[in-house]
Amino acid sequence: MQIAIVTLFPELFEPFLRTSFVGRAVERGVLSVLLEDLRPHGLGNHLSIDDTPYGGGSGMVMRPDCVVAAMDAAELKLGAAARPRRVLLTPQGKRFDQTLARKLSEVPALVLVCGRYEGFDERVRYFADDEVSLGDFVLTGGEVAAMSVIESTVRLLPNVLGNHDSVREESFSPECGGMLEYPQFTRPASYRGYDVPDVLRAGDHEKIAAFRRKQALARSRARRPDLLRRRGSQ
Ligand code: SAM
Repeated sequence: MQIAIVTLFPELFEPFLRTSFVGRAVERGVLSVLLEDLRPHGLGNHLSIDDTPYGGGSGMVMRPDCVVAAMDAAELKLGAAARPRRVLLTPQGKRFDQTLARKLSEVPALVLVCGRYEGFDERVRYFADDEVSLGDFVLTGGEVAAMSVIESTVRLLPNVLGNHDSVREESFSPECGGMLEYPQFTRPASYRGYDVPDVLRAGDHEKIAAFRRKQALARSRARRPDLLRRRGSQ
């Protein structure tokens, strides 16, 4: 998979791209990442990429000419066989979820565009394929959102995590019926008065599977009834 990140702060990504399984995916060539700094696409002595909003108001808006030039440059440098999918990170986009992570993990090349200031000039949207939000809250920039998209997408690529089953059978996955995963326990068997359920220690795999299904359902019903409603309507 190839990913280009258009950002004013490429340095924020450097430790992230070196660490843990994302770092290993980069090292092994499963993932290649290109950082496209927005600043050189800026204008004037200060290479500004923002300007005051038409109609007045507080804050600065990212200019479409600078942002789209950076998106085009990133795309050209990626040199992908198929046109990359261009994704704007914005609180006004489609809410990111595991279904979208799965879809993006099947896309060979992505350009992720991180906003700053008051966000993008409205016309930038016409040059993007998707607008993605991390949730109903406002970050200062799109970089943390882009890292979340990368991390959740790359871990779904084959041969990235040691045990591929662990990404298939977890919360929100079709293999878990779109529900939350069952509760997990490890050693010690007893901790400050809280014990691991006996069934998990008895070694009867059928009973363990039944216990886990029941727990996943109860937990989803209690914490995320919306997941069960969605499941019912499919
Ligand atoms: N003025 C914008 C609004 O009210 O919709 C918010 C701009 S925000 C301060 C600056 C940038 O942070 C956005 O352009 C976007 O790239 C990023 N951002 C903020 N919240 C986000 C979210 N929930 N999901 C994805 N990106 C977000």
